[in-house]
Amino acid sequence: MNRYQSIPKQQRYSAQQFDREFPNDDACLEYIKESRWPGGRALCVNCGVVRKHYRVSGRTAYACHACGNHIFPLSGTIFHKSTTSLRTWFLVIRLMASTRVGVSAKQIQRETGVTYKTAWRMMKQIRKLMGEKIYLSGPVEMDEAEFGGSDSNKHHHLRGKTKASAFGIVERHGKVVARVVPDTTKESILPVVAEVLPLSATIYSDQSPTLASVRWMGKSHRHVTVNHSETYVDGYAHTNTIDGFWSLVKRGIKGVYYQVGLEYLQSYLNEYAFRYNRRKAMRPMFAFLAERTVTQVCPSAREQKLLGSSQPF
Ligand SMILES: [Zn+2]
Repeated sequence: MNRYQSIPKQQRYSAQQFDREFPNDDACLEYIKESRWPGGRALCVNCGVVRKHYRVSGRTAYACHACGNHIFPLSGTIFHKSTTSLRTWFLVIRLMASTRVGVSAKQIQRETGVTYKTAWRMMKQIRKLMGEKIYLSGPVEMDEAEFGGSDSNKHHHLRGKTKASAFGIVERHGKVVARVVPDTTKESILPVVAEVLPLSATIYSDQSPTLASVRWMGKSHRHVTVNHSETYVDGYAHTNTIDGFWSLVKRGIKGVYYQVGLEYLQSYLNEYAFRYNRRKAMRPMFAFLAERTVTQVCPSAREQKLLGSSQPF
């Protein structure tokens, strides 16, 4: 079986394509500038009008053609103040976008030549771009998942904070929402359901008492439970879709992220959901992620700027 060939043509983004489009730091900077200010046309605060800006050589800046005032495409982005080259950042984005099951910091280290610590921090920043607000419509499946578990195969510093719960809702053939929850009581789960689902949605779940309580939150919620002890697939009443999502995440976390604490679980869930929610889109995943670097100004970068502190990468 050739997994690569099963990816539709429009979704493919090869290493050769990447090398062609982003051969060096300048090409990456140009991409960001064009995304923020197409044609280099940006408001010059000095002139008070939109003017064309030209690249300032040797700096990550563009200058107003009339007065020379500088604009900085990287300001407010995850690349701001980073000492890692822009092309390496783009390469990490490509690697994180091109995987299905996840990529490890070790693998990033091997493929880009940055240190393990740098790779880990870059991935953390890129993962922040993957968080998004999503609303679902029915029919949906929902189920809980437990992460963590046995202490015996963990690093010493991770032992003790053993388990975390997550709750997921998925549309059939559609999108998923996956959240870390303090526990799987109805007090923790109902707010998530209320936030992402309309009242009329049909819900499929197993027969856990918590999920059974979901039916009481809205009079028009039609809730169908699946009795796993009897049969796994009862016609339309099954939870195969959410089970499939959780097994994808678990396989990834086990194989790739096992060394990391559960405090980052939500950001991993965001990463898997981001890819899952675009799995049928007719564009390369890289395009979705790259454009987020300019549409989503990373809070931590902004915070760093406000604090005036530099946390160099
Ligand atoms: Zn100007």
